[in-house]
Amino acid sequence: MSEAAGPSGALAGAAGVASRLAAVRERVARAAERAGRSPPALVAVSKLQPAEAIRAAYAAGQRDFGENYVQELEAKARELADLEELRWHFIGHLQRNKAKLAASIASVVHTVDSARLAAELGKRAAVTVLPEPRRWPIAGASGRLPVLIEVNVGGEASKSGCAPCDLEGVLSAVDAEPALALAGLMTVPPHTDDPGGARPYFERLLALRDAAGGAARLPELSMGMTHDLEVAVACGATIVRVGTAIFGARAP
Ligand SMILES: *Cc1c(COP(=O)(O)O)cnc(C)c1O
Repeated sequence: MSEAAGPSGALAGAAGVASRLAAVRERVARAAERAGRSPPALVAVSKLQPAEAIRAAYAAGQRDFGENYVQELEAKARELADLEELRWHFIGHLQRNKAKLAASIASVVHTVDSARLAAELGKRAAVTVLPEPRRWPIAGASGRLPVLIEVNVGGEASKSGCAPCDLEGVLSAVDAEPALALAGLMTVPPHTDDPGGARPYFERLLALRDAAGGAARLPELSMGMTHDLEVAVACGATIVRVGTAIFGARAP
């Protein structure tokens, strides 16, 4: 153990999160300015990061956090229940047998990718009411659970998300659920070493949004991570999901 461990190390960790968070906000703001767009919401992706790192970001003003695994989400929500304004964004692959738990904790789910999952989530969201500060403030949601449809724009077998040709069916399934509020689309593009390589995939999501009714029906576009957030903002992202640049590398 080095001398940096212990109380002074914890302090240095919190200060590190705060300064990296400030740098990411700056990156996002500059990208929005260059693109002539209003800055997107920033979701701090905290998967596999300790609760103390989330506390540090919350203390620095961050309110939206992204988690990928329902069990981890549940444990952290319990541990951090005192952070009353914290909003959990569920951004991982959601199995239907975990929909009840996700619906009872998440302020918004980014990863609905099938009609069956939409139906299950709708059923579960109908019996859950989140306290006001935890609601994702989307216009007209009024107590419903906002959801985004994840689209696998790259057609990768390893990725979740619905195929572009199945999008309309999933959209209709969400519309049919009184407890869900259709908020937008989300994607994770195939990895390319050059962040610019993500551009065609982001543009594809944009085109799918336009074909499905545009921003009036699907106001949110959740796209862009540490590697490619500038490209995503230039393409019109309204939500970026950033982990590594805020919290550092994740535990393996
Ligand atoms: C892990 C993850 C992120 C954050 O990725 P970073 O490269 O660490 O910024 C964003 N979105 C999803 C869906 C993720 O799984």
